[in-house]
Amino acid sequence: MAYQRAYFPMKVINLSQGYGARSMTHKLSYALDLSGKDSGKDAVYAPFDCKITKLYQPTNTNKNANTVWLTSTRKVLSPNGYYGYLTMSITHPSEITNMKLGTTFKQGELIMYEGRTGNASGNHIHIEVAKGTTAGWSRRVSGVYSEYVILNKVKPEDYLFVREDSIIKNTTYKGYKYHFIKESDITYKVVDVPSEPLYIHKLPNIRSSSIIKGVGLKNGDEVIKFYTRDNMAYIYHYEILGYTTSKYLEKKK
Ligand SMILES: [Zn+2]
Repeated sequence: MAYQRAYFPMKVINLSQGYGARSMTHKLSYALDLSGKDSGKDAVYAPFDCKITKLYQPTNTNKNANTVWLTSTRKVLSPNGYYGYLTMSITHPSEITNMKLGTTFKQGELIMYEGRTGNASGNHIHIEVAKGTTAGWSRRVSGVYSEYVILNKVKPEDYLFVREDSIIKNTTYKGYKYHFIKESDITYKVVDVPSEPLYIHKLPNIRSSSIIKGVGLKNGDEVIKFYTRDNMAYIYHYEILGYTTSKYLEKKK
């Protein structure tokens, strides 16, 4: 079965708040606010095959923000090389009264629209991502569950690819540039291998005992390179995840 990539849920990437000490309301949270186009309400699409695992449908949406938790129904691949389940919370969508727990979506399906329910100055979504299948609140603000909505958060941009056809409008917040990654940004070409094939290894070493049998790389092959450590690159190639010698990989232009 093919490795499904995890994607950002909007087609226009327009960062309106990052995280950490520099941020306004995301200080304790690896959360990103995405605003899409500057006018209207942008659509929000399923980031992966998923199901609704938690819903917060407040009666007073002027005061409290709608929130939907989506958990992947299969393992998904991330730009940092993670392959596993992910849960994403999406806060502030405009209208979710008809949503039900357990509803499933295929990747790319339209789920809802961004909005400004709760504390929001304009249409956007606030997303948080966690590894695994646990959906839950992690923080209350003034007695009300607010924006900090997922446990064991990770940086969304490390775990979600930007779709190749996405328009990237803004990735900088308060002078800090967040690293949004398209698959083409980390696609490399195999070059100058003196004796083919270039083996792919289970472990980050070149011992013959760790060679993944039956597969190998030839000059001209393309791989996704997630990272390099001690001259070994962690890569993906045709449904294989493993390590190979980094010096034979060249960034695809
Ligand atoms: Zn936010």
